[in-house]
Amino acid sequence: MTELHELSLSAALAGLRNGNFSSTELVKASLQRIEKLDGHLHAFLSLAEDSALETAGQADQQLAEARKTGTIDNLPALLGLPLAVKDVLVVEGLPCTCGSKILEGFKPPFTATSVQRLQQAGMVVLGKTNTDEFAMGSSTENSAYGVTHNPWDTSRVPGGSSGGSAAAVAGRLAPAALGSDTGGSVRQPASFCGVTGIKPTYGRVSRYGLVAYGSSLDCVGVFGRSAEDVSLMLAEMAGHDTLDATSSKNPVSPMQFPKTDSSSLKGTKIGVPQEYFIDGMQAEVETAVRQAIEQMQALGAEIRPIRLPHTSYALPVYYIIAPAEASANLARYDGIRFGPRVPGDAMWEVFTRTRGEKFGDEVTRRIMLGTYALSAGYYDAFYGQAQKARTLIKRDFEQAFEQVDAIACPVAPSTAFKIGSHGDDPLAMYLEDVFTLPANLAGVPGLAFPVGFDGAGLPIGMQLMGRHFDEAGLLRMAYAYQQVTDWHTRQPDLQFLEN
Ligand code: GLN
Repeated sequence: MTELHELSLSAALAGLRNGNFSSTELVKASLQRIEKLDGHLHAFLSLAEDSALETAGQADQQLAEARKTGTIDNLPALLGLPLAVKDVLVVEGLPCTCGSKILEGFKPPFTATSVQRLQQAGMVVLGKTNTDEFAMGSSTENSAYGVTHNPWDTSRVPGGSSGGSAAAVAGRLAPAALGSDTGGSVRQPASFCGVTGIKPTYGRVSRYGLVAYGSSLDCVGVFGRSAEDVSLMLAEMAGHDTLDATSSKNPVSPMQFPKTDSSSLKGTKIGVPQEYFIDGMQAEVETAVRQAIEQMQALGAEIRPIRLPHTSYALPVYYIIAPAEASANLARYDGIRFGPRVPGDAMWEVFTRTRGEKFGDEVTRRIMLGTYALSAGYYDAFYGQAQKARTLIKRDFEQAFEQVDAIACPVAPSTAFKIGSHGDDPLAMYLEDVFTLPANLAGVPGLAFPVGFDGAGLPIGMQLMGRHFDEAGLLRMAYAYQQVTDWHTRQPDLQFLEN
């Protein structure tokens, strides 16, 4: 029998509406699962048990009332469903550390728009999930509060930086979670953990209340068990927000996929870029992704080879632009306004001591790189050049989308690696992002979903990138694929961890 914590978001929604169980039972199932397993996985940095149970109780009252009056269809769309939130999104009253000592003990006075919209839709926040410090990393090893373990193999990383959220969904600790994606931080952990994750178009979801890393790249993203689950949440979060000047006024495309005929991809053109199948990538990843592409062809999609010739510039361009923007964004953490303060005799001493002691190595490295790239005399050579190359990368995508509706490729060159294996080699870690960075630089949406397993039993993900604001198109394609495959339903066996 399926246990409550195993239900997907859509199954849980249906069960709640049918009165098969209550929101309180659902939330308790998640909290019990967390209690049982999170000592091993460390997906969460903090829990909000009391407020979660209180909100679930209110949802149950609303459900009971609506059942009596026959108005169940008028209820908020996601009423009573549990949600985990990456600890870079602020939620009023809950701690927000960004995985950093510099924000230890900080409680924000407001809630991020993305979270607030899901709360308005009835979702229940369970707690905050682990992240690389300020979302800088690809393994969650850069968290100041310890690494998260991959539920498929706890000696391996869950990916990052939204590793806590991905592990929570994969380990069935929560049916859904929010993450952030500046260079791949939703898609790569989704791939490593065998779940579905989307980075929407830049500007599709408000960044208000998302702690800024690289402001021209940052996106709030969603993790779920399937394209359908992800679409349920994105539909609620997407749309203009007056509190974020870069959020788009474009209308949100409907994200409901008709159950009938949805497995047909007839008329859909999918491009396969040769630049994304590189030497040195894990052979099993390439095989699984190519098989998934064939499967989509069998569903009626037309597959075309395409070129994205400036792909190789994405990595160096990203690692100039993101640290440059980070160096400016992180200037605000000086021990005065947020978090702990290391005392000193003069103001500058307070700044330097607090920053020197409280920022971790990777964040310090990025601030130094970014400050250098922006400094007088170097700005044109680095930041200016990078912006020009970014335009070329964006143009590659515009040209490709004149021929195809979506681009299919791997999410990462390998499956989840061992904890500690990239330890003292930042460049090896940066290479993990080679297939995910271009979508952020171009601002286009990217969707990751599971398409197989390697010989070690680790999930393999495929990425679909689409035109600006075509999240619904990408989700429909993955939905069609998931109608005829079951990779997304597989779950890791964690019984051996249960005490
Ligand atoms: N791994 C990339 C970085 O370290 C991307 C992180 C992200 O998307 N937040 O910057």
